[in-house]
Amino acid sequence: MRVILIDLLYIVAIGLAVATLGSALWLRTPWGLRRRQVQNRRRAERSEFRCAVHGTFPQEALVRLPTGERVCPRCYEETA
Ligand SMILES: [Zn+2]
Repeated sequence: MRVILIDLLYIVAIGLAVATLGSALWLRTPWGLRRRQVQNRRRAERSEFRCAVHGTFPQEALVRLPTGERVCPRCYEETA
């Protein structure tokens, strides 16, 4: 019984160590920062653009203005 408890303690300690190492890599290293930036960029690209007048559009359908701003294609047609 005692051996089982000690083994369980080791397993918990190893799990905590791995979790600590993983979070330290993720939060405190340039590699982690880069990974988080890539993840944020992908999330932003996947999200849809929501026009207040015409509803949602996929990011590919948006029109990029010379200023860098993005507008929905129907708003662009109406103003152009
Ligand atoms: Zn619109």
